[in-house]
Amino acid sequence: MLGNIMDQPLLISSLLRHADRTSGDREIVTRTVEGTIHRYTYRDAHMRARRLANALQALDVKLGDRVATMAWNTHRHFEVYYAVSGIGAVTHTLNPRLHGSQLTYIMNHAEDAYVFVDINLVALIEAVADDLEHLKGVVVMTDRAHMPETSLANVLCYEELIESHSDDLEWRSFDENTASSLCYTSGTTGNPKGALFSHRSTMIHAYASALPDVLHMGESEVILPVVPMFHVNAWGIPYGATMVGAKLVFPGPRLDGASIHELLVDEDVTCAAGVPTIWLMLLAHWREAETQAPALKRTVIGGSACPESMIREFQEDYGIEVRHAWGMTEMSPLGTVSIPKPSMTDDTERMRKQIKQGRPVFGVEMRIVDDTGAELPRDGVAFGNLEVRGPWIIDNYFKLDRSESQNAAGWFATGDVATIDADGYMEITDRSKDVIKSGGEWIGSIEIENLAMSHPEVAQAAVIGVPHPKWDERPLLIIVPAGGKSPTHDDMIAFMENKLTKWWLPDDTVHIDELPLGATGKVLKTKLREQFGDHTLPTA
Ligand code: ADP
Repeated sequence: MLGNIMDQPLLISSLLRHADRTSGDREIVTRTVEGTIHRYTYRDAHMRARRLANALQALDVKLGDRVATMAWNTHRHFEVYYAVSGIGAVTHTLNPRLHGSQLTYIMNHAEDAYVFVDINLVALIEAVADDLEHLKGVVVMTDRAHMPETSLANVLCYEELIESHSDDLEWRSFDENTASSLCYTSGTTGNPKGALFSHRSTMIHAYASALPDVLHMGESEVILPVVPMFHVNAWGIPYGATMVGAKLVFPGPRLDGASIHELLVDEDVTCAAGVPTIWLMLLAHWREAETQAPALKRTVIGGSACPESMIREFQEDYGIEVRHAWGMTEMSPLGTVSIPKPSMTDDTERMRKQIKQGRPVFGVEMRIVDDTGAELPRDGVAFGNLEVRGPWIIDNYFKLDRSESQNAAGWFATGDVATIDADGYMEITDRSKDVIKSGGEWIGSIEIENLAMSHPEVAQAAVIGVPHPKWDERPLLIIVPAGGKSPTHDDMIAFMENKLTKWWLPDDTVHIDELPLGATGKVLKTKLREQFGDHTLPTA
């Protein structure tokens, strides 16, 4: 027997309509690409999104068509999100840090019909335009006065497009499983693969993301997503914040410590979200300028492991709660958040939990398995391949067979290696391709990196496996020294030896000026392995 409840589809447009009607005066503030601070409200955003939706329909964009964006976090990008999905088309967010060849591949694979591009990113589209097979036109996201010179054909001006259409539009209704946005994984090996989200998955993810123990979003919060809208929808914040009518602050293209600091202070931001590299820059700025952001209550840090030293600095020096989170493109992206339980009152225990990636958000189920697929115990010791399933996790990659993403039992293999403890906290020890195999046993690089980064003379650290005649592979510690110091290998070992399993201690330490980062701000271990793969260890 079925329940007697209305079968109303969960559609993204309803978020903005709701925000207009119930939090219409709440602000959305942007540092624009042109350099000014732009301020308007959810009501204005809804009006402009409707105009843009009419414009898109006039351009013959139809249900299911892909419309790309190559843009920073701004109010205009926000409007495109809602206008495109509101008419049943798909927002395909492009990462400006991708290689030209990857960009061409994904734009052709996605069959992008239009691309919305920021003024300072136009050259990236110009560079690939001749190879784009489906592109009908380009919309430059600015007003007439700031339109750049360009070699592109069929170029439209965003503000003119909006001005030339009315806001008379009722958002249309369609199946909630209709595709809404598309994001390709950066694919360090092989071609990038597309995660195609639906209205339903986005909406359920938005409900979950707003919960107090997830991103804690509500109308009284002021949220600054530093995490880009071009990468997994800025962790869903443009949807979750709209659902609850939170004030949104978009940082545009300027992500350096001083610029982010300025917005945090001027707009009384209460919660900001981003990857660890962003917070390194902000914390360095705070130390140098001897300042901080008084209204900031919480930072959400994920995308790569948050070092313990960073959690301590935020919490102990500034009284700002760190929410360490884990997820991935294929998971919309929220997977886990690490918050100590109320019963955990001991500081050491609380910190031990916070450096873990955390407990799954309701809606995500997870387990660890060995190489035969057998489930491993949740004891915090056994580590294995992490698998997940749930209503916002991809079923299959765009245009690929389901077998590429799922095992026969219906779980998505994350490619991460992890433990799960008896309290339900998951801890990533490595990405499976980065695990170091020493004498038939696995060494997880993240714990070593975390420890090395708590050394006061180390700014950043990465650990890779290098070949060893006896042990197969042994860990090499690569550090970016801090404050003009250069700790030796012996210094590092002396610092780490009582805190780490003895055979996990690195066999050598090398210094580097900066770590190579990929398109999503993660350390590129492939590059480090190329550079240091033939490093001769003193123990070899
Ligand atoms: P990419 O496009 O680089 O694959 P994703 O954002 O999808 O980008 O990357 C997801 C991966 O990032 C995860 O599988 C995991 O390896 C890593 N990751 C994300 N958050 C964390 C975290 N808090 N700690 C450790 N690793 C993380």
